[in-house]
Amino acid sequence: MSLLDKYISPLNQVSLSKGDSMEKAEKYARIALEMGAKDSKVISVKDLVFDPRTLLKCMYGCEEWGKSWTCPSAPKALMPWEAEKILKKYNWGILIRTQDPKLAQEISFQVEMKAFFDGYPLAFSMFDCYLCETCVFPDPCRFPEKARPSMQALSIDVYATVKKQGLPIEPLKTKGEKPNYYALVLIE
Ligand code: SF4
Repeated sequence: MSLLDKYISPLNQVSLSKGDSMEKAEKYARIALEMGAKDSKVISVKDLVFDPRTLLKCMYGCEEWGKSWTCPSAPKALMPWEAEKILKKYNWGILIRTQDPKLAQEISFQVEMKAFFDGYPLAFSMFDCYLCETCVFPDPCRFPEKARPSMQALSIDVYATVKKQGLPIEPLKTKGEKPNYYALVLIE
């Protein structure tokens, strides 16, 4: 049994194509762990839970609504039902947990880059953008090459998706609790 076994989704749920092996997919989970992720799992896109109600939670109750280039309120942003259609073109990716949002963004971007140079040109990472102290929206984005939308901005129900993988995620009840942050990199 490899050390990574506990980080891998049940293999029969992950369908790799183009002659890819699970070993290849594990490589990206390993990179995320080496960079400091608390958990990193190969995940099938079939196991992502999509729900357009994520838009309601973004529009009503999120204090960042209308203030960021990666928010669904940004001009020409994809609507959840459009995003779902696009994301379902992928087969598999890596789900990453950290307890530091900046680290989650950095790891997911680096995994995307490594996959890109390995021959997965459409690899795409998702996490809220923490690159600037305050987003400069509506002025032009300062780092458009690195800024990516979050999973929830693209219609993924993060709670349901993460719970399905048996990973920790709970609403925070007190200020002292340490949140878990989840990023996703769709690779192929
Ligand atoms: S890089 Fe900066 S300006 Fe661009 S979306 Fe992220 S926080 Fe906003």
